Amino acid sequence: MDFDIEQLRNRFPILHQEVNGKQLVYLDNAATTQKPDTVIRALTGYYEKDNANIHRGAHTLAARATDYFEETRKAVQRFIGAREAEEIIFTKGTTESINLVAATFGRKFIQSGDEILVSGLEHHSNIVPWQLLCQEKGATLRVIPVLDSGELDMDRLDEVLSEKTKLVSVVHVSNALGTINPVEEIIAKAHAVGAKVLLDGAQSTSHLEVDVKELDCDFLAFSAHKLYGPTGVGVLYGRRELLEIMPPYQGGGEMIKEVDFAGTTYNEIPFKFEAGTPNIGDVIAFRQALRFIDEVGKAAIKKQEDHLLRYAISRLSEIKGFIPVGTARNRVSVLSFLINRVHPFDVGMMLDASGIAVRTGHHCTQPLMKRLGLEGTVRASFSVYNTKSEIDRLAESLERIAKRKN
Ligand code: PLP
Repeated sequence: MDFDIEQLRNRFPILHQEVNGKQLVYLDNAATTQKPDTVIRALTGYYEKDNANIHRGAHTLAARATDYFEETRKAVQRFIGAREAEEIIFTKGTTESINLVAATFGRKFIQSGDEILVSGLEHHSNIVPWQLLCQEKGATLRVIPVLDSGELDMDRLDEVLSEKTKLVSVVHVSNALGTINPVEEIIAKAHAVGAKVLLDGAQSTSHLEVDVKELDCDFLAFSAHKLYGPTGVGVLYGRRELLEIMPPYQGGGEMIKEVDFAGTTYNEIPFKFEAGTPNIGDVIAFRQALRFIDEVGKAAIKKQEDHLLRYAISRLSEIKGFIPVGTARNRVSVLSFLINRVHPFDVGMMLDASGIAVRTGHHCTQPLMKRLGLEGTVRASFSVYNTKSEIDRLAESLERIAKRKN
């Protein structure tokens, strides 16, 4: 390990508590990660010292809050390798970032007869906005099929991608199974037919190095809360040349240059897409989450998470009745499984009684569950602050659950 795990865990106050009389084991990191002390302090510090509305106040507090807010934008730019800070738009989450693209790019550039391509691994938030848009426009939603392993059937990509495809919107890493998709290949092929590409980076940005220049994607959507940051903050990266020609998202203050009853002119990017008072305190605190990732190092985080995933797979495979769901070789530290004949919800409840937090159900991926012939799974997802002994606790509890039902 490239860091002192106890020191690192001490930075997460929430981990140090008992749940149902047992030391908490938090394995629901794909849903949301816990927050380090610096993020929590930045949030209270903002409200204690700096709270003011940004971009328009003439006073010192407003200038300070504006500087801090814009510092986060620059930190996000560096984090994903964007060319300019103006290409970073703050939203309230991945969901809103995707809906923003559907409502602006989609409304302007998708026409009747066009096609939008997603994959069978998508989260509902990367399906429903496109269904709504397709209904409105008379466009068609097409799907890259999924193999039994939980990987995309890339041999069939050419069947669903064509000159009619105007937008490809795919998940970089599956939240349900952890599969890392071959997005480089998808992006290259999409660009070859003239389609734009949106990557849902809700899960990839926390586990992998994501560089929008290297990937050559047109849009990237992700959420701060899955990256050790606060809830209520999301990011949409978009290429400048696209953002410039897209219409605004919502109307209101901040997104305008001049308002007149004869007509309104819009602000420059990114403000054109940020109507109203944003989530200032949480955006400022998000800066500390990115600093935390920098301090520990993406490579060290990945190494620890890979190590935990390998250990969990081998330890849980010893349990009679353990059925892994999704066996992709290229994956992040997300482990979906079933315990023979026990409903996933019951497994989750029994684990909770032992102080272990996992997620159960369809993970907002109902089409994927349907494809796999399942109602849902149990999902344990590991983060940098998890330990092998926590996985032992999970395995011991699962052994008891499996035995009870055998
Ligand atoms: N996409 C993926 C792959 C996700 O895992 C999630 C959240 O679980 C989302 C989109 C939606 O993110 P949010 O709820 O933060 O908008």
